[in-house]
Order: sequence, then C-alpha cells, then structure tokens
Amino acid sequence: KSKEKGKNHFVLCSPVIKEEVNFKTKLTNHLYHALERDELELHYQPQICLQTGKIVGVEALLRWTHPELNMIPPNVFIPLAEQTGLINPIGEWVLKTACCQNKAWQEMGLPPVRMAVNISATQFRNPKLTTLIKKLLKETDLKPRYFELELTENIAINQSDYIIEILDRLRKQGVFISIDDFGTEYSSLSRLKTLPIDQIKIDKQFIDGVAKGKTDQAIVNTIILLAKNLGLNVIAEGVETHEQLAFLKDIQCDSVQGFYYHRPMPAQELEIILQYQNDTMIKSQGVNSPCV
Ligand code: C2E
Ligand code: MG
Ligand code: MG
Ligand code: MG
Repeated sequence: KSKEKGKNHFVLCSPVIKEEVNFKTKLTNHLYHALERDELELHYQPQICLQTGKIVGVEALLRWTHPELNMIPPNVFIPLAEQTGLINPIGEWVLKTACCQNKAWQEMGLPPVRMAVNISATQFRNPKLTTLIKKLLKETDLKPRYFELELTENIAINQSDYIIEILDRLRKQGVFISIDDFGTEYSSLSRLKTLPIDQIKIDKQFIDGVAKGKTDQAIVNTIILLAKNLGLNVIAEGVETHEQLAFLKDIQCDSVQGFYYHRPMPAQELEIILQYQNDTMIKSQGVNSPCV
C-alpha cells in the first residue's frame, strides 16, 4: 500500500524510523507520568575551586528511572520533554527541588555551596521564568548568590535581546549566571561582551583534548584569557585525568568539574563529602589555612 502513495510515504513507513517513532511516543507517554509517579531525582556533581581545593558549587543533574526501562539518560529524555512542552512542569520541579535541597544543606550546617540548575531554550521562552525563580528563592529563603543558572551558548547567542533582558533581571536579584558547553557554538566576541553573565563553562570536548595535543591546549588557554579579560569566572567541564587537571592549574583555570574528583551523586552522598570538608576546615582553622 505504501508504494501506491509514492516515495515520501514509503520513507515514512521505513521500519527503522517507525520503530524510532514508536519508541519516542512510548517514552513520551511514560515521561508524562514520571513526575506524579515520583520517578525523577536530582543528582549533584561538585565543582572544585582550584585555589582552595574546596567544593564551591554543585550542578543539579536530572535522573529518570523508569520501573521497566530503568535509567534513561537526560540526553534522551530532555529533548523529548522540550518537544512536548513537558520541560515546563519538569523544569519547575527541578528548580524547586534544587532550591529546597540547598537550603536544607545550609540548615544542616554544611559549608554553603552554589546550586547550579540547567535551563533549556523552551524554559527561557516561558515569560513566567523570572517570577518563578524569584518566588522560589523567597519561599525557600535561599540567598540568590547560592543559586546559579546554566544556559547553553546557543540560547544566549540566538535570542540575545530577549535573553539579555531576562539575565539582567536575574543578575540584579543576585543570581549567578553561567554559559554552559562554551566553545561548541560560534558566538562572536562582541556578543559575548554584551551578555550579563558571571561564568563560562568550557565544554568537555576541549578538556578531552588538552592532554593529547597543542590545538585544544591553545583553545582552552585562549578561552581562559578571554574570560579573565572580560572579568568572568571560568570552569572546566569533564575533567577526568591528572594531566588535564595539571594543565588547567598551570594556566590558572578557576574551577573544575569532572569524574576526576566526583561523579554526579544523590544528595545523601554529597552530604557526607560536604561534612568531611567542614570537619577538615575546622581542624585547619588558624593554621594559615588557604580557605576563604
Ligand atoms: P551538561 O549541563 O553539560 O552537564 C554535564 C554532563 O557531563 C552531565 O551529563 C555530567 O554527568 C557529565 N559529566 C560531568 N563530568 C564528566 C566527566 O568527567 N566525564 C564524562 N564522560 N561526563 C561528565 P548528564 O547528567 O548525562 O546530562 C547531560 C545533559 O542533559 C546536561 O549537560 C544538560 O544539558 C542536560 N540536563 C541534565 N539535567 C537537566 C535539567 O535538569 N534540565 C535541563 N534543561 N537539562 C538538563
Ligand atoms: Mg550544565
Ligand atoms: Mg555542559
Ligand atoms: Mg552538555
């Protein structure tokens, strides 16, 4: 039958595509119920300041465990959530959970860290985003400086006028703003200069290359110089080896995040690490400790 309708129809019925469409539809249906069925969870990955060796921030990373399909990676379900608009309720849950968690850690007396949350393009297009964040910070009584938003380079560049206005408003409240996956898009330097941001996150692909050759070393070096000249903080993503760390220390990268130090982990695991950091800080107090 499909042949009668011509080439296009035949292509649409190709078994591989059909299977993929079926899978996506099935996954979207499951995702629709993920929130109410309590299948979502946040994991947290520490960010370490290279000068002090302390955890200064954590990135909240969404995890979805379906009872039958098991763990579905965010790179698979986030795009689906974006396409279906489900990212709005899910994103709201992420923001709320992250704020509450950070406040809870502070109330436990753990050393304060900044909580970074990823915000996608669709979420930025939601006019209620800034009001929601303001409301959440007020409700949880979390100081805005302990709250960070990560947006990717292409969001910041493509919708720049609108985005600048939103970022400006958030930054005036005291929220910390980072550009995620930096270096993967072609942002012009003049655009970058006008963005109201605090930090650049160098994408993992360049960090992967620094131990292998001069090209990625040169790129990372240049990004760090650029960030410093613009008065921005700079963090390297996906640091996995000692060589990468040594190189980044050498060229005075501010902070790092990666499996070399810690993988993303559940809240309870991070609490133990933060508690340990707190104990060692107390022990070394007054002994000319470099910690600030
Ligand atoms: P991202 O924001 O760039 O997050 C960093 C990703 O790199 C995370 O993957 C993290 O687990 C991984 N990673 C960190 N260090 C290393 C390392 O040393 N080696 C390797 N191989 N990987 C490392 P994850 O958790 O799978 O998340 C993938 C992406 O999904 C994120 O990339 C982000 O774009 C998106 N995402 C995750 N959670 C959320 C969320 O709550 N909301 C939105 N909108 N997007 C999210
Ligand atoms: Mg991120
Ligand atoms: Mg990233
Ligand atoms: Mg990424």
